[in-house]
Amino acid sequence: MEQRDILSLNLEELTQAVVAMGQPRYRATQLYQWLHVKKVTDFSEMLDLPAVFREQLRVEFCLKRLFIARRLESCMDNTVKYLYGLSDGQYVETVLMSYQHGWRLCISTQVGCKMGCQFCASTIAGYVRNLTPAEMLLQIDETERDAGVKISGIVLMGIGEPLDNYDNVIRFLDLLSDSKGRQMSLRHVTLSTCGIVPRIRELADRKSGLTLAVSLHNPSDAGRSAVMPINRRYPLAELMEACRYYFSVTGRRVTYEYAVMQGENDSEADAKALAALLRGQQAHVNLIPVNSVRERSYHATRAAAQEFMHRLERCGVHATVRRTLGSDIEAACGQLRHEANGAQT
Ligand code: SAH
Repeated sequence: MEQRDILSLNLEELTQAVVAMGQPRYRATQLYQWLHVKKVTDFSEMLDLPAVFREQLRVEFCLKRLFIARRLESCMDNTVKYLYGLSDGQYVETVLMSYQHGWRLCISTQVGCKMGCQFCASTIAGYVRNLTPAEMLLQIDETERDAGVKISGIVLMGIGEPLDNYDNVIRFLDLLSDSKGRQMSLRHVTLSTCGIVPRIRELADRKSGLTLAVSLHNPSDAGRSAVMPINRRYPLAELMEACRYYFSVTGRRVTYEYAVMQGENDSEADAKALAALLRGQQAHVNLIPVNSVRERSYHATRAAAQEFMHRLERCGVHATVRRTLGSDIEAACGQLRHEANGAQT
């Protein structure tokens, strides 16, 4: 029998399993506390559970860990980039960043990605599999243990498309915010998507309080479809309608990610088209100079991103150039994993 991954179970499922093992229900609450509050790494540490029960748990469940395959520390700020090894030999990336209110972690949601965005390193080698809720939680736990910090904000902006792994991401968010467990307010969580429209609407209906970030990168359907295949499925008009829906249902303003690619999406006409697209939304645009990926030719300087910011401001769009943290270790998104895989073959 395959062992179930215990960290992915919610309290209700855990209770069912515990009762099925002949134990009283309150044992499930104790177990849940060990897993999600005290965050132990082995059943043997669960000291208030009977030894026989701990042995039963070890037979039926697995309590996995991630191992640190590489750790890159920035010399310029406190950013640390981890390449985590998973139990099946795959890798994902996680980035720890400090900001004014504490520590924020950027986590991956899939091994690889299906979305095929032209400028993104995560997608070059294709998609391998979804991450489990446990593997998302473990990126937080292992990083907190390694760095000795308490993480107070999460961004789902690492490798993968979170809304393409919808059920596991929702379960991860439920476990993260559970009042009986980890208790992180989803107001401290940002989920970034390339624009899977039906899922944006479903997420809105959950009214969870999280911040939605949408990767826009180009204000015209022709230009966006050329770099982001998802746009052929869900063109800009539909995407904008879903974003307005998200705001109207949740009261949370959507933020837009825009990687400036010099000569591709940063002209005066692009600024005007972007302003027209976002009109009436009080939108905020996060600009980032595109990270050059070895296999692709896109590039931008910080000055180019700032120039585009001024263009947008003149059109009445609120935009900022994102702080580039850890730029000395800034292998573009997904590049570390890509290199680790390349090194294996
Ligand atoms: N799949 C999700 C989240 C993962 S990518 C999404 O598409 O939003 C996180 C962000 O980094 C996205 O905005 C993505 O478009 C952007 N990104 C990917 N490659 C990049 C690059 N080379 N330079 C700058 N931003 C990049």
